[in-house]
Amino acid sequence: MGTALKVSFQKNIKLGTQKVKQLLGEDMKFGDFNIFPLTDGRFRLDGGAMFGVVPRVLWEKCCPADDQNRIPLSLTCLLIQAHGKNILVDTGLGLKHDKKFEHMFAVERTASLLDSLKTIGLSSTDIHFVINTHLHFDHAGGNTVLDDQGQTVPTFPKAKYFVQRGEYEDAVHANERTRASYRRENFHPIMHKNQWEFFVGNSELFAGVSVVVTSGHTPHHQSVKVESEGKTAFFLGDVIPTVSHLPLPYIMGYDLSPLQTMETKRWILDSAFEEGWLLMFEHDPQIQMGYVQKDVEGKYFLKSQT
Ligand SMILES: [Zn+2]
Repeated sequence: MGTALKVSFQKNIKLGTQKVKQLLGEDMKFGDFNIFPLTDGRFRLDGGAMFGVVPRVLWEKCCPADDQNRIPLSLTCLLIQAHGKNILVDTGLGLKHDKKFEHMFAVERTASLLDSLKTIGLSSTDIHFVINTHLHFDHAGGNTVLDDQGQTVPTFPKAKYFVQRGEYEDAVHANERTRASYRRENFHPIMHKNQWEFFVGNSELFAGVSVVVTSGHTPHHQSVKVESEGKTAFFLGDVIPTVSHLPLPYIMGYDLSPLQTMETKRWILDSAFEEGWLLMFEHDPQIQMGYVQKDVEGKYFLKSQT
């Protein structure tokens, strides 16, 4: 990565951190819990694929593409500290990739997820639970890591890993359309060590930490809901990957059931507006979280957006 890019990336992270601190306070408190958005860096995906049927003239206003038609995306995971446990939601791209992969996806690894954990005083052995929203490689890539012998092993040796059972089955039995996103090395070694646990439908891990099935991107995609002292935060995953995807028809071309995504988004945004949820975006390169407001036409936008 060039120096200018690196500087602007760090500036964005700094800006993002400032915004997060404005929302959560210096101690990252959320009710009784602590929540920390943690970066695994950035990468790039095709802008057309990221916006589905939306014409380029519209999406490039918010997301200018590079000479290969790619737009920058963040890899923001979430750490929840609740009931004395460290719960990690999604694991980014991970560290197992070769140069070809890094070039293809323009991976900018100024800080890996493990580096980010270190900044809050945690290491891989401190994680008790990992929740994957789904098993695509940009959400589950950090589930595993290469050990000294070159074997792929779970990154978090003491953790139980959670995903929807249906998502796991779809990943194991991927088809021609879905295969490129599911890489066995991100989930098979977890099974080998017997560290998988499966949710079936909406489920509660602990009081105040639950998963909600938010299908559309994949049939068994899940989001994570954190509730404490009357406050609710909602980690979206890929159902609304960036702030630019707030408009209902702005749906990724990657989504397997776009009309289902639209209905899931409608429910999330209505609930978030009515109940004042803090929405957390996994792929937005600038904004990690925010509250929605409604304009006169009934369209949702983020409070800080003007
Ligand atoms: Zn993604």
